[in-house]
Amino acid sequence: MVVFVINCGSSSIKYQLIETESKKKLISGLVERIGAVTSIVKHEVPGFKPVKLTMALENHTQAITEIMNFLQNNEFNVISSLDEIKAVGHRVVHGGETFKDSVLIDDDVIHAIEEAIDLAPLHNPPNLKGIEAAQKAMPTIPHVAVFDTAFHHTLPAEAYLYAIPNRLYRRYKIRRYGFHGTSHYFVSRRYFSLNNLSRENTKIISCHLGNGSSICAIKDGYSVDTSMGFTPLAGLAMGTRTGDIDPSILFYLVEKEELSLKSLHELLNRHSGLLGLSGYAADMRDLINEMQNGDYRCKQAVDVYAYRIKQYIGNYMAVMNGCDAIVFTAGIGENSAFIREHVLANMEGLGIVLDKEANDNAGGKGEVLISAPESKIKVYVIPTNEELVIALDAAKIALAANQSPWI
Ligand code: ADP
Repeated sequence: MVVFVINCGSSSIKYQLIETESKKKLISGLVERIGAVTSIVKHEVPGFKPVKLTMALENHTQAITEIMNFLQNNEFNVISSLDEIKAVGHRVVHGGETFKDSVLIDDDVIHAIEEAIDLAPLHNPPNLKGIEAAQKAMPTIPHVAVFDTAFHHTLPAEAYLYAIPNRLYRRYKIRRYGFHGTSHYFVSRRYFSLNNLSRENTKIISCHLGNGSSICAIKDGYSVDTSMGFTPLAGLAMGTRTGDIDPSILFYLVEKEELSLKSLHELLNRHSGLLGLSGYAADMRDLINEMQNGDYRCKQAVDVYAYRIKQYIGNYMAVMNGCDAIVFTAGIGENSAFIREHVLANMEGLGIVLDKEANDNAGGKGEVLISAPESKIKVYVIPTNEELVIALDAAKIALAANQSPWI
């Protein structure tokens, strides 16, 4: 089945067309700066030179229409007509406590995603805009919502409850939700496949290290703890986000710098993390370069980033009474041998020994075992594929819904 996968940000849309039987990506693309004077549109067909266009796209509806036009009118013949698309899968960041799995989108689902806006004011509104625009463009086929939070619905109460008055959980649903669920799910399933395992009696620590970074403890195939929390601000230090900090710092800052709530939000979400620590960049490649040129603050930023990951690995080994495998994924996890080595240095006492050569040469090779033969814990690089998870879920649900006679 050909599935259209959409991931909408406030001014961007990432898309892919995936053939689910062969799991092949037919085309992918990105529309950026929606609503600006000039929007940038990129389309990429595997095996061809990428196409980059600029145009004025006022809103998400126009952006989706532009993508649809390109799919029909390009020389690549990815599909012969839009009728070949049988379902649309939407990435939705926050499903709150309502959604434990992907769902067919109807009015009730849209209402429930709207209700979760309070929990994810930056993410759910653009996700809803994407749903609305895509439903307008493709009204006759099933649309499916796949939630970043859903994989973590198995967290036990001791992992998801914060030590605040319990009425705040009951009243406002303030709890740990966790994010990057599709990615942690995907790499754990790839680990099972690579080792010919079923999920029972397995313990994995999955490290999704990108601009946003999170770690997940996966026991028997289920998420039992994860580093992001009520929002994606918690846990590891990230490109521009703080990760865990002492909440008292907020009161102190408000008093000392007379910050408004909005400025505080900006400070913690956009000016902190690697960018804040280094005063130079949020991008790990830039930081490692500058560090190697002798910049001390860039080195500190990289050290803090790696140290937090190490701490969480130890944390989750305690939670699961050990682990069988650590998996690195996403931009930094897949591409930075330096960070992987930095994180796992001096962990022989816990049974973790890297194969330096395998680690150094893992880049661009796909799924690679990078631990030494004597390592008790296997360490893997496994490229993530969140879009594939979304496409497969959308196909499964569209088939089950059996909404359209031609599916
Ligand atoms: P997002 O959360 O935006 O999806 P990605 O998963 O694409 O992020 O990861 C982006 C991060 O990956 C950036 O910090 C980038 O510098 C880093 N990255 C990509 N390639 C490399 C590399 N070869 N070495 C170090 N970091 C890398």
